[in-house]
Amino acid sequence: MQAGYPASWYAHSAGVHDQYPALNGEHQADVCIIGGGFTGLSAACTLAEAGREVILLEAHQIGWGASGRNGGQLIRGFVGQEKVEKYWGANHAKAIDELTWAGHDLIRKRIDDYDINCDLTPGWLEVATTPRQLASLYHHYNEMESQYPDRGWHYMGAEELAETIGTDRFVGGVLSMSDGHLHPLKLCLGLAKGAASQGAIIHEHSPVIEIKPGEKVRVFTADGEVVANHVLLAANVHHHLPVRELAGASSAAGSYIIATEPLQEDVLNTLNPNRYAICDTKTVCDYFRMSSDGRVLFGGRVNYSGRKPASIQAKLLPRLLKVWPQLEGVKISHEWGGRLGVPYGQVPLIGKLGGNIWYGAGYTGHGVNMGNLAGDILGRAIVGEQDRFDLFAQMPKRRVPLGHLSCLRWLGQQAVSLAILYYRIRDRL
Ligand SMILES: Cc1cc2nc3c(=O)[nH]c(=O)nc-3n(C[C@H](O)[C@H](O)[C@H](O)COP(=O)(O)OP(=O)(O)OC[C@H]3O[C@@H](n4cnc5c(N)ncnc54)[C@H](O)[C@@H]3O)c2cc1C
Repeated sequence: MQAGYPASWYAHSAGVHDQYPALNGEHQADVCIIGGGFTGLSAACTLAEAGREVILLEAHQIGWGASGRNGGQLIRGFVGQEKVEKYWGANHAKAIDELTWAGHDLIRKRIDDYDINCDLTPGWLEVATTPRQLASLYHHYNEMESQYPDRGWHYMGAEELAETIGTDRFVGGVLSMSDGHLHPLKLCLGLAKGAASQGAIIHEHSPVIEIKPGEKVRVFTADGEVVANHVLLAANVHHHLPVRELAGASSAAGSYIIATEPLQEDVLNTLNPNRYAICDTKTVCDYFRMSSDGRVLFGGRVNYSGRKPASIQAKLLPRLLKVWPQLEGVKISHEWGGRLGVPYGQVPLIGKLGGNIWYGAGYTGHGVNMGNLAGDILGRAIVGEQDRFDLFAQMPKRRVPLGHLSCLRWLGQQAVSLAILYYRIRDRL
C-alpha cells in the first residue's frame, strides 16, 4: 500500500514510484500548475515538451484526486456533448467530436513516449438495461458507424451480449474497440515522471493557499512561493481557493468502487474473456472491468451529499451480484471513492481568467480522456496555439447566480440531486 493515498486497489498495485519534495522558498517559472491529476500532468508534459519552465504543485501526492482513483474506463467525449450542436451548431459540434479522438491518441502517444506500463487494454462495451435505452444506443451506434467507420464499432443483441459477458442482465450493447481501460494511478505516475524528464519541477505535499493575480502571478504555499507568468488551476473540485468567477459553475459528485479478490483465470474467462470495460447506459451508471491481476473492479452509486457511504461494499456488492450472480460469496479486498466535478452547463470548464490564470475542470465521468485532452489544450494555448482552446472557452459557462455564497451553491447541489433522481426514475422505464 502506498502511504498517503486512499486504500484503493490502485494504490495497492501501483508499485514503487518517484516522490517529489514539498515546495520551499521563492521560485520563478513560466507556468505554475496547481494540481497533479490528469489535467495538471498532461499540461505539464505539453508545456515542458515545448521548452517552458514549469512548476507543478500538488497538495497531496501525484494522482491523489479523481485521476488516481477512477474506474479507469478510457472513453471519449463528455456527458453534455449533444448540447454543443443544439446551442453552438453542427460545425462546432463536429470539431469538438473529432477533438475528443485526439485525447485517446494523446494518451496512447504518451504511454509510448514515456514507456508507461498502465495496463492499457482495448475494448469498451456500453450496455442497456431497458429496450428504450437500447433504442437510443442503437441510434448512437449508427451515427458513429457512419461518421467513423474505421474505429471498430460492433452492435450486439441480447444473445450475443450474454455470450460475450456471461450475464443476461442487459438487453444489448455496443462495443467500441477504440475505447478501453487502464490503471489510472500508474498513468498519473508515469506522466509525472515523463513531465519531470522534460524538465518540469514537481512538488508534492504543497497545497496552494493563495493566488495573487497580476502581470506576474504569485502562488503561495505554507512554506514557499512561485512567481509565474501564467498559472493553471487544475485542482478539480478539491481546492478551496476563493476563485469567485468559478464559484457556482460546477458541483461535486461522489462515486465509489469495490475490488474483489483475484479470481481464477477460468472464472474470468466465463465472465469476460475479452476483458472489456463495461458501463451501462443509466444516468447513474454501473461501470466495471477486470484488473490486470484478475479482480473485478465494480463502480457506481454517485451521490451529491459529499458523505462517503458507511460501507461501500454494502452498496455495490449487491449490484455486482445482479450482473454476475455466479460470484455469490466473492470476497471484497478494497473499497474506495472519490469526487468528480459536474459542471452545471454539462460542458467541461476550460477557460481563462484575466490574461494569465487558466483553468480546466468538470469532466464528470469522462476525465481520463477529457482531463488529458484538456491539459494538452491548455498547455498549447499557453504557448500560443489557441484554436482548440477557443472551441471550449467560447462556450458560455452556466453558473448558479451568486455561486460564491455557500447557501446558494448548496441549493444548486440540491437541484442537481433532484434532476438526477428524475433521470434515475426514468432509467427504470
Ligand atoms: C470514483 C470515480 C470514478 C471515475 N471513473 C471514471 C472513469 O472510469 N473514466 C473516466 O474517464 N473518468 C472517470 N472519473 C472522472 C475522472 O477521474 C476525473 O474527471 C478526472 O480524473 C479529473 O482530473 P483532474 O486533473 O481535473 O482532477 P483530479 O484528478 O481530482 O486532480 C486534482 C488535484 O489537485 C490537487 N489539489 C486540490 N487543491 C489543491 C491546492 N489548493 N493546491 C495544490 N493541489 C491541489 C488535488 O490533491 C488533486 O490531486 C471518475 C471519478 C471518480 C471519483
